[in-house]
Amino acid sequence: MAKLDILVAGDPVLRKVCEPVTRIDKKLQRLLKDMAETMYAAEGVGLAAPQIGVSKRIVVIDVGDDMGLLELINPEITKREGKVVGAEGCLSVPDFEGEVERAETVECEFTDRTGQRMVLNASGLLAVCVQHELDHLDGILFVDKAQSLSRKEKETPKDAVRKGRKK
Ligand code: ZN
Repeated sequence: MAKLDILVAGDPVLRKVCEPVTRIDKKLQRLLKDMAETMYAAEGVGLAAPQIGVSKRIVVIDVGDDMGLLELINPEITKREGKVVGAEGCLSVPDFEGEVERAETVECEFTDRTGQRMVLNASGLLAVCVQHELDHLDGILFVDKAQSLSRKEKETPKDAVRKGRKK
């Protein structure tokens, strides 16, 4: 098991457009496992590969619903519907939170760890999380889109997860 360091805003890797994954192999599966362990250790609900310094189109998400852990390789949003504004935070921007407008529901195509192309239909926190994490793959941080930003009050990581703020 390996818990990796999470990069914070200011690191150039977070601003790069990530490369697609071309090989599904043992190395990738180990990376997926490390990313999930890093996300859980940080008590986040999502983590994108660039946040741990890997410029590849890979995301892990677990918003604590029935879906459990989602591993999205080369994900693409293929449909967006509705609009919703909500508070967001980011493991790579630890001191701030902000109000961000997102689509209410999204359809997302991705490759799973066996190499199969899949479709995910997401709403609520999961939809917001998918959009937030996919932005990371294009070098975009939530602070770029936030309508307002505020310095976070001191709260425990558990509080933040409960409020769905850490992605
Ligand atoms: Zn983030």
